[in-house]
Amino acid sequence: MNSLNSISCLCGSQQEYADCCEPLHLAKQQAQTPEQLMRSRYTAYVLKNAKYVYQTYASKKQAENPVKEINDFANSCRFINLDVISSHHDGDKGEVEFKAQYFYQSLFCELHEKSQFIKENAQWRYLDGTIFPVTDIKVGRNDDCPCGSNKKYKKCHSV
Ligand SMILES: [Zn+2]
Ligand SMILES: [Zn+2]
Repeated sequence: MNSLNSISCLCGSQQEYADCCEPLHLAKQQAQTPEQLMRSRYTAYVLKNAKYVYQTYASKKQAENPVKEINDFANSCRFINLDVISSHHDGDKGEVEFKAQYFYQSLFCELHEKSQFIKENAQWRYLDGTIFPVTDIKVGRNDDCPCGSNKKYKKCHSV
């Protein structure tokens, strides 16, 4: 990892965490766009900040996404990368398409989702999303790690 990566935010924005997702996590700022909110939710998963993920669901979705479940998912995954493919918003509605790569046990998984966002009390919230089917890849210990490090999986993201 080079020095640029080590200071840049985990959401892949090329900005420092302190200027990117951190002010949102600390509730010092509100997301200005659905994309900002989506990025901050991704980094909250990586940082296992389940409470933030929960709080940024639309209110009617919070009951079906308890903090404990969010926390269990965040703890069972090793997140690798986020790619925002497209995003736009108009009025109180927005949409972000993204791909997020992570390891779950010895599977390399990609979540490819088109997410819907709404504004509630003038704040962007995640409503729901359409998931594009992507086949999980089973990774062997001696395979090249799918994260792109050019290392063997057993020397890289294996648990
Ligand atoms: Zn960020
Ligand atoms: Zn790796």
